[in-house]
Amino acid sequence: MNERVGFIGLGIMGRPMALNLVRAGYRLSVHARREVSMEPLIAAGAEACASPAEVARRADIIFVMVADTPDVEQVVLGKDGVRTGVRAGALVVDMSTISPAATRAMAARLREHGAEMLDAPVSGGETGAIEGALSIMVGGTEAAFARARPLFEVLGRNIVHVGGNGAGQVCKACNQIAISQAMAGVGEAILLARAEGVDPMKMRAALLGGSANNKVLELHGRRMIEADYRPGFKAGLHRKDLRIVLEAADELGIALPGTALASQYLNALVGRGHGDLDSCALFRVLEELGGSGPNPAG
Ligand code: NAP
Repeated sequence: MNERVGFIGLGIMGRPMALNLVRAGYRLSVHARREVSMEPLIAAGAEACASPAEVARRADIIFVMVADTPDVEQVVLGKDGVRTGVRAGALVVDMSTISPAATRAMAARLREHGAEMLDAPVSGGETGAIEGALSIMVGGTEAAFARARPLFEVLGRNIVHVGGNGAGQVCKACNQIAISQAMAGVGEAILLARAEGVDPMKMRAALLGGSANNKVLELHGRRMIEADYRPGFKAGLHRKDLRIVLEAADELGIALPGTALASQYLNALVGRGHGDLDSCALFRVLEELGGSGPNPAG
């Protein structure tokens, strides 16, 4: 509780996570590009900072929760970035989903300033962030993990130290491989049920009690059937995650054909201007390909 904490990036995920830290009693300094994003945090007792560098000057542990690899690089290494304010002995914890290779490079740059880095991407969505129930996959040293653990326990329930720098991001990439294909699988099941005249909600209810049960069927399956695509997890961000997966697969020379297919569904969705819908809206693309006509729900 003595550690001073910083939080940069207050979007769908970052805002509730930062709120949970301030409510748990941590002294929090925050920064977001838009002032309006900081207002709920300031109301809860956090201090507003004009730049990531200012957060780094005030905090011992600095959390980052922004969108993509270039965004984290800008926040950490850019002009007025964390690096220009960070003190020796500080710990930077990046919870965004970004490239494992870029993560390893950033950790090395921060080490030159006497600071350590953990990659700690999450799964569990906005609800998990609000409820402090995220799954957190961590890469970095044992000592840095032990130092951050009490804060992770405020943010999440399933906290796994996976390995060295970048290992958390590799784990998150694996998560996105599994989720994207589960979404496509659930979507195809709904298409068949509907084309056969079977109530897809009853089909879902039956599958939830058997071997096909999973969170995607439960949460996203319902949303696909009801055509409820409010985000949640934006399609543009999921597409970004699969790009990270496929870049790694290219570098390693391994084939991930299912992920390549899922990424094309998301490309089609984002290309039609729907990058801000929830990623389970990839079902819309399946509906068009499947030829069963539009969703009667919307
Ligand atoms: P979001 O709502 O779009 O929020 C991202 C935030 O990052 C925005 O507030 C944005 O600021 C800020 N940002 C982006 N680029 C920046 C930059 N260069 N400098 C400063 N701030 C910047 O996204 P999110 O859903 O919270 O996701 C955040 C991260 O968590 C992503 O890596 C995502 O893949 C991952 N994630 C999301 C979920 C989910 O369910 N949403 C689940 C697991 C993991 P502005 O508002 O000013 O644009």
